[in-house]
Amino acid sequence: MKILTLNCGSSSLKYTFFDTAAAATLADGIVERITIGEAFIVHRLAGRAGKPLRREHPCPTHKEAIDLVLATLTGEEAGAISDPGEISAVAHRVVHGGEEFTRSVIIDERVVEVIRRYISLAPLHNPPNVAGIEAARAMLPAVPQIAVFDTAFHYTIPDYAYIYALPYEWYHDLGVRRYGFHGTSHLYVSRRAAALLGKQPSEVNLITLHLGNGASACAVRGGQSVDTSMGLTPLEGLVMGTRSGDVDPAIPFQLPQSIPLALQEIYMLLNRRSGVLGLTGKYADRRDVLAHMEEAASSDDAGAEEPGSPYRCKLALEVECYRLQKYVGAYAAALGRVDAVVFTAGVGENSPKVRALSLRGLEPLGIILEEGKNEAAPRGREVDVSAADSPVKVLVIPTDEERVFIEDTVALLDGAYDLPDRFEYSFQRADYQPRER
Ligand code: ADP
Repeated sequence: MKILTLNCGSSSLKYTFFDTAAAATLADGIVERITIGEAFIVHRLAGRAGKPLRREHPCPTHKEAIDLVLATLTGEEAGAISDPGEISAVAHRVVHGGEEFTRSVIIDERVVEVIRRYISLAPLHNPPNVAGIEAARAMLPAVPQIAVFDTAFHYTIPDYAYIYALPYEWYHDLGVRRYGFHGTSHLYVSRRAAALLGKQPSEVNLITLHLGNGASACAVRGGQSVDTSMGLTPLEGLVMGTRSGDVDPAIPFQLPQSIPLALQEIYMLLNRRSGVLGLTGKYADRRDVLAHMEEAASSDDAGAEEPGSPYRCKLALEVECYRLQKYVGAYAAALGRVDAVVFTAGVGENSPKVRALSLRGLEPLGIILEEGKNEAAPRGREVDVSAADSPVKVLVIPTDEERVFIEDTVALLDGAYDLPDRFEYSFQRADYQPRER
């Protein structure tokens, strides 16, 4: 089977093209600046030496972007196939599946209708997902399309953890509750962690930390999600690249008394201009933050008013890591026994500094990092960075959400699929070889 996975964001589209017979990624890439103007594709064909292909092409909507992906995949220069008819299935990442979707599904009219209905719960995320599904269905009408939901892995969270202390009718009538996101990533790394610990998923308690541009923590008991830091939307919880995470919910109502901002503008500011970007005033990428904070003297707040100053960068890192430390502590309390803390995604996989700072002072909980192993952890590999005598292991596990997309798709089309906690993935087996990076 040749499976195309599509991950449509508001202005970007990430894709991979996978051959299950060869167990290999044939091509992958990204289309950026969709709907914004000056859109371009960056496409990598496996085994092709040199730089990835880069082409500019107008993409006023996601339809043109998917067209561009299909044309590139079948093109002469860096194509992986000669005809779109060779695509066996398309798997779409869908951010919000509400309470309706507790597992991946084959897309039909009703599924599209429900995903569309959830736009009211996820106004920033589900519209590009729906646009991608509609465009792909129109272009490849004979090809089965699958939806894989960010929320599905979290369907096992108990009511006392997903209900907000708000009027109960808001939950019952309007669906206002914690849903959680990054589910495919938490699922993948938790199953890998169990395999690395030599156990079954049902035997392990874990705290998984997906730290990318967006970031979320998940408490996993017996292989199932029992709590997570993102909520009704991906805004809640950890400090992220541009999202605030937890704040006093009164702030959006107090702020307009001091500065003229409409509620909707504040919502966008909390999502797009807060977090690390809001604190530094200049950088959302932690590589920039880490590079600039090095110059900050320990007690010096010189430059506090200057965007991007070493002081502001150091402060952003400390705020981000202190929030992480609190979530790890809270989830250790929620779980009682923790077998491992797992770091994944861009920041979690690549920043020893963030790992060290966020676990600082947690030795009394049995979480002991070994500095040397943490600093020397090779990129793109699964590594144990905890001290040999640490009761709780600390693991770095590169995530592979596409692997979940592909296995769900194959199993759905074979009629062998089940709920995430009853379904056995290849990557939970001890002999599984993770994707090379
Ligand atoms: P997303 O899929 O949410 O965009 P990723 O998991 O790709 O996120 O992570 C992207 C983020 O990872 C970047 O914004 C950057 O902050 C961070 N990152 C990548 N490499 C490093 C590194 N070497 N050190 C620190 N942070 C890094």
